[in-house]
Amino acid sequence: MYDYIKRFLIAMAVALSIGILFIGTRVSFAETSDNYEVVNFIWPTVGLVTDTFGTRNGKHYGIDIAAPRGTTVVSVSDGVVVKSYYSTTYGNVVFIEHTDGYETVYAHLHKRLVEEGATVYQGEEIGTVGNTGRSSGDHLHFEVHDGNWTMSKKNAIDPFLVIGDNKDSFFVLSDEYADTEEYQVASAYEEHHDQPSEVFYIKVKKGDSLWSLAKGYQVSVDEIKSWNQLSSDSIVVNQRLKIVPKGSYIVQKGDTLWKIAEQSGTSVSKIKKMNGLKDDRIQIGTLLTVGN
Ligand SMILES: [Zn+2]
Repeated sequence: MYDYIKRFLIAMAVALSIGILFIGTRVSFAETSDNYEVVNFIWPTVGLVTDTFGTRNGKHYGIDIAAPRGTTVVSVSDGVVVKSYYSTTYGNVVFIEHTDGYETVYAHLHKRLVEEGATVYQGEEIGTVGNTGRSSGDHLHFEVHDGNWTMSKKNAIDPFLVIGDNKDSFFVLSDEYADTEEYQVASAYEEHHDQPSEVFYIKVKKGDSLWSLAKGYQVSVDEIKSWNQLSSDSIVVNQRLKIVPKGSYIVQKGDTLWKIAEQSGTSVSKIKKMNGLKDDRIQIGTLLTVGN
């Protein structure tokens, strides 16, 4: 118990120092070669990243940053507050539309400090970290949408793609904290995690490769190539790529439930249960949940 608290505090300190460094620096990460778009986001708060995008069977459409209640939350870029209200799921939540077409979401806030229609600047305080709505620990749930937020969150992209490309150096990977209370508390019971897993799309950023994307989304290079009908390994900046969440499978021609079960190391009855299938028939193109 004591040991993990110590480890958690060390991790917090690391996250803090790196976070501060980051918040104080305006770095352009995703400049495209044709200069169409310059994404210049900063971190929304300082804390420990307890969960990343695309986890929980692809149902987690943002990142979770655990931090003490009252910690400042800032707008990641200039924009206009399009929504600021209390939701039973998101809790106190602020939606900001940015000039470059992105929309960001800041959920479970303790306090909202901006009203709908307000113009905000990058780094401006918009609220504080809290535990409101369907959340059971103080943390910020942060989403980035390439386009408008929608109910299905089809435009959601991995915030790390726009906050930075040097992923491993500035956030604490949650894996080793998966057993800790903080991790479980901070990442539990947000209603948006109960949505059915869906295929989502990402936009290729400078520095991405099929290999790094496959690693990030815990899928294989061959899978990304087949979902997108790519014949070579090269991808270009701004290319839209389809990603099937880990633990999901798209039914192909010639598949049977038995074949899919065997390939994914599970059983036919489990697949039927997870997907609410009444009989053994499956249709080509159906997205099935096959595991975690
Ligand atoms: Zn979350």
